[in-house]
Amino acid sequence: MIELIMDTGENKKNDFIREIIREDLKTEKYGKKVHTRFPPEPNGYLHIGHAKSICLNFSIAEEFGGRCNLRFDDTNPEKEEEEYVNSIKEDIKWLGFDWEDREYYASDYFEQLYDFAVVLIKKGKAFVCDLTAEEISEYRGTLTAPGKESPYRNRTAEENLRLFAEMREGKYPNGAKVLRAKIDMVSPNLNMRDPVIYRILHSSHHRTGNKWCIYPTYDWAHGQSDSIEGITHSICTLEFEVHRPLYDWFIEQLGIHHPRQIEFARLNLTYTVMSKRRLLELVEEKHVSGWDDPRMPTISGMRRRGYPSEAIRNFCSRIGVAKTESTADMALLEHFVRDILNKSASRVMGVMRPLKVVIDNYPEGKTEELSAVNNPEDPSAGTRKILFSKVIYIEKDDFMEEPPKKFYRLAPGREVRLRYAYFIKCISAAKDSEGRVTELHCTYDPATKGGDAPDGRKVKATLHWVSATHCITAEARLYNSLFVKENPLDIPEGGNFKETLNPESLETLPECRVEPSLTGAKSGTVYQFERLGYFCVDADASDKKLVFNRTVTLKDDWAKIKNSGGLK
Ligand code: ATP
Ligand code: MG
Repeated sequence: MIELIMDTGENKKNDFIREIIREDLKTEKYGKKVHTRFPPEPNGYLHIGHAKSICLNFSIAEEFGGRCNLRFDDTNPEKEEEEYVNSIKEDIKWLGFDWEDREYYASDYFEQLYDFAVVLIKKGKAFVCDLTAEEISEYRGTLTAPGKESPYRNRTAEENLRLFAEMREGKYPNGAKVLRAKIDMVSPNLNMRDPVIYRILHSSHHRTGNKWCIYPTYDWAHGQSDSIEGITHSICTLEFEVHRPLYDWFIEQLGIHHPRQIEFARLNLTYTVMSKRRLLELVEEKHVSGWDDPRMPTISGMRRRGYPSEAIRNFCSRIGVAKTESTADMALLEHFVRDILNKSASRVMGVMRPLKVVIDNYPEGKTEELSAVNNPEDPSAGTRKILFSKVIYIEKDDFMEEPPKKFYRLAPGREVRLRYAYFIKCISAAKDSEGRVTELHCTYDPATKGGDAPDGRKVKATLHWVSATHCITAEARLYNSLFVKENPLDIPEGGNFKETLNPESLETLPECRVEPSLTGAKSGTVYQFERLGYFCVDADASDKKLVFNRTVTLKDDWAKIKNSGGLK
């Protein structure tokens, strides 16, 4: 079920996690220390859900005068790659956070984790098991049926030590043996039923190469890695709540530093999916151009699209943290994007679907310089000169031959204002053989220079435009939501989330005309094209061709949703 999050106001610094930390500081559970970490698995690019966790962990450390580590949870050699490590670091930096010199890897602890396993074996709390993966899962039982003990469970510590050492030496093939914790096969918590803590994988690891052929499971590595780093508050998502008793058990058996695990609800967002596995599928099957496709909910996608990192931080802060799952509205994220861009983006004029307009009474060959405001929200941004001439382009949509009621823009016989320029009046429309309007003929009123008529007459519309002789051609990529469904996973049985992909999520307009001040605009810069939206210069832009991504339109749907109650 999709639930929209209500505007909870600005008391973001007072959620249940911060309350727990304040309490721990008061009782000096960990002395005066607060140490958090962000622990990504380098098996994909970070998404906006990770941003929530990053903001939370780094901000808490900052607020309480503590530290936050970056730790790659790289225990699975088969899915992890250097490319992901680099992208994760780039994304966290771009979001505005700094792990200083605390860049760690679970793989740095492989030797220590091995030694910890030996401690468990010696205590009679772990054993080497020869059951196959299928048998282990069968023996495990279910939520309603108790598990069954493995026939290998009572091997002596000596035998287990020898076998475990042989596993490490590479004596056995993949899957032949595992090391399991010896806990309780009838525990109501399935995680406590003798979980696997080491498996044999003859695979090369992105950092340790071929040094190891046994790898710790995530469950074995995660809590101990936190402990090794002296983490005080190990903040994770709700699905780990049922793992907590296991993590506690490991730490208690080993008698090592015991971080406090706190779970919060993961972020979900409407009209998108948020699991790396599904996002990888979209990339591999080329439904998108890559992890940084501007339609992706990834941090790199949002950056490429033109979202300011401050907007993402503000969004994460506003949604806050809770104990129950919910879904934030994409419109809220866009609201924060506009909020920042409105203050920072320079205004320019560009025409997406050009319609040629000839101003019959304007002198041939004449060019005028007019003054335009760069940013009405920021007087210090100043003004610039824009060029006006006899032939201009306006937006096709801004003209209708037979305008319906409430269409106040250009039509035969009608007068409108050209932004910063003159009033023009439409005299006639030329058409091609199929009846499509190809160009307009208009007249202008020289007395209206700058945009007002001295006789006080009014017009009902102001259009953006560019001078045909001076403009440059650019490509614009207009993005719509990647999925048509609010929850793309809400599909009938047997269906696939990709069936809900939006076939119209990208519209490419290769023949836009934009004002010449945009010549050489730098990749990553965001402009407001007047009346159209915010547009960011794409990484594909070159000296020869400008490419813009529509970051977001001007219309703020969030205000509407909020005022109508915010909940569906
Ligand atoms: P995914 O399910 O997308 O593959 P993951 O949880 O496997 O994500 P990790 O790399 O293990 O990804 O996550 C790193 C950290 O980010 C973890 O602490 C995890 O709890 C947190 N995280 C992941 N997804 C979200 C989310 N949607 N909302 C909040 N935190 C998240
Ligand atoms: Mg994970």
